[in-house]
Amino acid sequence: MNKDGKKVAVIGSGLGGIAAAISLAEAGYRVEIFEKNPQIGGKLNQLKAEGYTFDLGPSIMTLPHIFERLFERAGKKMADYFTIRPLRPHWRNFFPDGEVIDLYPEPERMDAELEKAGADPARFHRFLDYSGQLYDLVNRGYFEEGLDNAADFRRFYGLWDFRKFDLLRTMHGSVARHVRHPQIRDILDFFIKYVGSSAYAAPAFMNCLPTIQFRYDLWYVEGGLYRIAEGFGRLMEELGIAVHLNREVKKIETGEGRVRGLVTADGETIAADFVVCNMEVIPAAERLLDAPPKALKRLRKFEPACSGLVIDLGLDTVYPQLAHHNFFFSGNQREHFNSVFKKHLLPRDPTVYLVAASRTDPTVAPEGCDCLKILPHIPYLDPENPVPAEEYLALKKRILEKLERMGLTDLRKHVVFEHFWTPVDIERNYYSNRGSIYGVAADRWKNLGFKAPKQSPEYSNLFFVGGSVNPGGGMPMVLLSGQNAARQLVEEDRG
Ligand SMILES: Cc1cc2nc3c(=O)[nH]c(=O)nc-3n(C[C@H](O)[C@H](O)[C@H](O)COP(=O)(O)OP(=O)(O)OC[C@H]3O[C@@H](n4cnc5c(N)ncnc54)[C@H](O)[C@@H]3O)c2cc1C
Repeated sequence: MNKDGKKVAVIGSGLGGIAAAISLAEAGYRVEIFEKNPQIGGKLNQLKAEGYTFDLGPSIMTLPHIFERLFERAGKKMADYFTIRPLRPHWRNFFPDGEVIDLYPEPERMDAELEKAGADPARFHRFLDYSGQLYDLVNRGYFEEGLDNAADFRRFYGLWDFRKFDLLRTMHGSVARHVRHPQIRDILDFFIKYVGSSAYAAPAFMNCLPTIQFRYDLWYVEGGLYRIAEGFGRLMEELGIAVHLNREVKKIETGEGRVRGLVTADGETIAADFVVCNMEVIPAAERLLDAPPKALKRLRKFEPACSGLVIDLGLDTVYPQLAHHNFFFSGNQREHFNSVFKKHLLPRDPTVYLVAASRTDPTVAPEGCDCLKILPHIPYLDPENPVPAEEYLALKKRILEKLERMGLTDLRKHVVFEHFWTPVDIERNYYSNRGSIYGVAADRWKNLGFKAPKQSPEYSNLFFVGGSVNPGGGMPMVLLSGQNAARQLVEEDRG
């Protein structure tokens, strides 16, 4: 415990909030979390029903060393809390013309897939080298140092390295420069799914994303990804972090340029020396801080990342052609991106992500049955043009028809359990900005790929963590935001 016993109140127990709480408890602060839901984890969530277990949120774990650090600093080992194992293939990619291409991190296996599809392995490897260089660059400063804006970048990287970010191109522009094969282009473009943005709008340095998978592998957590939340839950208990469930925060108390504490929905006022907010920056400004229009206008460039339709199906059969992770590509992926991110319309023919965790984990479905989570990316909510519920249902129907056309014959006849979430449910469950699933979109023109800063510009003892702040969405990134915000808080405290 730090000697003056300073108290930190954390709003929300998403992975960003959890990472900040653990890091601060490890640094000796008294930490309490206030979570509106009956369980911890935020979007890292699960559904168990009729013998099926679904990951309602994340289903792909990457960069496990970032998770491991939180255990290591407490003198523990992550392996004692949950078990992870690498998956092969990483993904299976299905195309409308019947082509199937698997992704493997081993060069020989990947080359065989590329040659089978008529693509040039040498070009692919040159792309991966380029991706690796970008990853090393981005990781050194943006990820690990927690840089927050272009001025931080210029200071840290200097002019020479700043130019290496391939700033004049979009993500797709650079993919197209390296790779000619149209389906391999579509696959590499779709790595942008990790942050819910468009490859045609995201800056080229987002091409660091394939390295996350090809160099550091792609992981599954035995029993489902919610085991991560349970593992962190145990660690928080061991560290003496108090977690208050079903305690919504309604207000952050302020005065004399500082935050003073919280007010919960049941009217209790909790004093704190620091507040860490895992509610996204824009909803928190609107609902907890009653921010003036000028402050809200400044936040507008942090447009929400996409939302999603989450379709969970329990089947009475198995589709053996599925891998653990699968992508069913759009016939026109540019149109898919345009529709979701530019026109803000439900896509006619989206690229669809499908997880069949039952392929490698027998505990998540009854014997002889598959459990599928199907996730197309779709626009975030627009309160001025709400999408009628029937349109979401029509999209679901189109997607199931597409999957049947692309080989999952009679899929709808084999559904014995179904669960379905629209962006409205996502917004309601996590209070995410307009139902966004990854926080803020990476957009070259709107924000250069930056998300909001972690330290409030208005109140120096208020910090934000999670997908709406740098480095953005996805489990490892929000864990970094929590760890980096905690470091910044300690520096602020020491003056
Ligand atoms: C369907 C889906 C699929 C995804 N797939 C992947 C994947 O495969 N791999 C991956 O790495 N990432 C994936 N993600 C993204 C990943 O889940 C998120 O980026 C990450 O978990 C978000 O963490 P966060 O810290 O931003 O907090 P969140 O998870 O958004 O949690 C915020 C928490 O704060 C609570 N809260 C909000 N306001 C208040 C309040 N006023 N008072 C009290 N509590 C409050 C909420 O209830 C919630 O528990 C996916 C997300 C979704 C939804």
